[in-house]
Amino acid sequence: MSFYLPDTVNCKGDIFKVFITKEEIEARVSLLGEKLDKDFDGKKPIFIGILNGAFIFLADLMRNVSIPCEVDFMKLSSYGDEKVSSGQVTELKEIDAKLKGRHVILVEDIVDTGLSMKYMVDRMKSYEPASVSVITLLHKKDATVHDVQIDYVGFEIPTKFVLGYGLDYAQEGRNLAQIYILDD
Ligand code: 5GP
Repeated sequence: MSFYLPDTVNCKGDIFKVFITKEEIEARVSLLGEKLDKDFDGKKPIFIGILNGAFIFLADLMRNVSIPCEVDFMKLSSYGDEKVSSGQVTELKEIDAKLKGRHVILVEDIVDTGLSMKYMVDRMKSYEPASVSVITLLHKKDATVHDVQIDYVGFEIPTKFVLGYGLDYAQEGRNLAQIYILDD
């Protein structure tokens, strides 16, 4: 299988350049998987992927974990088709699994202002799980204004719009195998 690996991408008229390579992502995801294996040894966590953006990260992360685990998904929308957050979280799909007494690992593609993650953590706690942990592939630390718990981070990144590896711009670009940054 060949992956889509251009150096630059034109998405909706904006130019993006490669920022985190496929190799760098693979190495980091493998390390995160090892950490989860150690931290959740003897437990059977349930990964909750936040759709749509986290689906590729979650798929790779789960395949780097060897402890028994389960998966479910929740769908939120805060960006719409824009490059800046709308400041509102809308829940588009609820969890199907029963989370009471479970070790929940929330899996997000990116934490920006922290609004979505704060909403998710509060939402999870309402199900009375045994624990709630948070893992995000990317964190725009300087942009985070909400008081959020983040237990595992793939990469700290600057406050710029990124694309690829599950992250979209108006629904395009999710199939890029690397992470690209807006070239201004
Ligand atoms: P927050 O609620 O932390 O402000 O935003 C989180 C959500 O906004 C992420 O799940 C993601 O959908 C979207 N988001 C934030 N920054 C970016 C970005 O740089 N690129 C893309 N494609 N989505 C982003």
